[in-house]
Amino acid sequence: MKILVINAGSSSLKYQLIDMDQSEVLAKGNCERIGLDGKITHQANGEKMELETALPTHADAIKMVLKYLTDEKWGVITDVSEISAVGHRVVNGAEIFVEATLMDEEKINTLDGLTEFAPLHNPPAVVGLRACMEVMGKDVPQVTVYDTAFHQDMPATSAVYPIPYEYYEKYGIRRYGAHGTSHGYVAGECAKLLGKKPEELNIVTCHLGNGSSITAVKGGKCLDTSMGFTPLAGVMMGTRCGDIDPAVAMYIMNKEGLTPDQMSDVMNKKSGVFGVSGVSSDFRDLDAGAEAGNERCRLALDMFAYQVTKYIGAYAAAMGGVDAIVFTAGIGENNPMMRTAIAEPLAFLGAKIDEEKNQMRGKAMAISTEDSTVKICVIPTNEELAIAQQTLAVISR
Ligand code: ADP
Repeated sequence: MKILVINAGSSSLKYQLIDMDQSEVLAKGNCERIGLDGKITHQANGEKMELETALPTHADAIKMVLKYLTDEKWGVITDVSEISAVGHRVVNGAEIFVEATLMDEEKINTLDGLTEFAPLHNPPAVVGLRACMEVMGKDVPQVTVYDTAFHQDMPATSAVYPIPYEYYEKYGIRRYGAHGTSHGYVAGECAKLLGKKPEELNIVTCHLGNGSSITAVKGGKCLDTSMGFTPLAGVMMGTRCGDIDPAVAMYIMNKEGLTPDQMSDVMNKKSGVFGVSGVSSDFRDLDAGAEAGNERCRLALDMFAYQVTKYIGAYAAAMGGVDAIVFTAGIGENNPMMRTAIAEPLAFLGAKIDEEKNQMRGKAMAISTEDSTVKICVIPTNEELAIAQQTLAVISR
């Protein structure tokens, strides 16, 4: 069975065609600059091609994807009918879509009404969905998979904010979290790696990339997560500030005469390790800067590590103990120095990192010492496979 996974952005559309029998990616690519000049990158059969081509709308992009998937040279299927279903990534389903959902016209309209919960991400997902329905017809199931779904199990003690309760009732303001598909996937893979059932484990999953979030996964379910109403909360990130005293925002707005949108820009795009270092949001640049003696690069890296350590400690306490700590995403999978900086202070919990194993890359493995009572693992995330798995589960019901 083959499932097409779509991740639509405002001017891009990433795709993967996955053979579910082998969990194998048959083809993948990205349509970029949709609505502008248009470009498609497509990888299949061990080769990669790039083509600049007009892509006025997302529907044109989907047509192009289907054309390449069935192409004589670049294709991996002979007919579109071989695609059993399409799984769409959606960032926020609010309290309406609490699990992966088979979509119809009415549900798409409902999702369309949730724009405010993810202004940059939800609208393109709806456009991508409509485009697939238009191009592929009504017979191919279109399933939406939500980044917020895994966090829906969070109890009210984690989700509700200590502001007047009426704002939750009126506007749905609460913690929703993000990266849920990734946290759920790596927690499941961690349990497999340790030969345990998810229900038996308390895991802290650290998704550390441009956007970073930490989740307490107790018995396979989300107990708490660091991102909040929006993905601005939690640990500091590439360009996002994470948790700060909320009064700081009002203070700067008054001093600098900034509008709410301008302040949001400062906190989302000019803060985090970029804001502190003044150099870059990319941890590779910061490592190089710190190595060359740049103290603000050093400070940004030290702050990031400190904050992640603090969250792990807090979640260990919240869960009444921790069996495993998982690192994933760009930094979590590829930056051994950062993993060491985060994990070393956790020796008191029984988490001891093995420096030799910590240098390995590219596969799911434990990087803790034999006598470490808390397993430390690196698990490459695979959100596309997780979306395809959830899509398959929905259409198999
Ligand atoms: P996004 O959240 O945009 O998906 P990523 O998960 O790719 O971001 O994470 C980006 C961060 O991961 C960057 O700070 C970068 O330094 C780091 N990173 C990504 N790939 C590598 C790599 N191969 N080696 C070292 N660091 C990497």
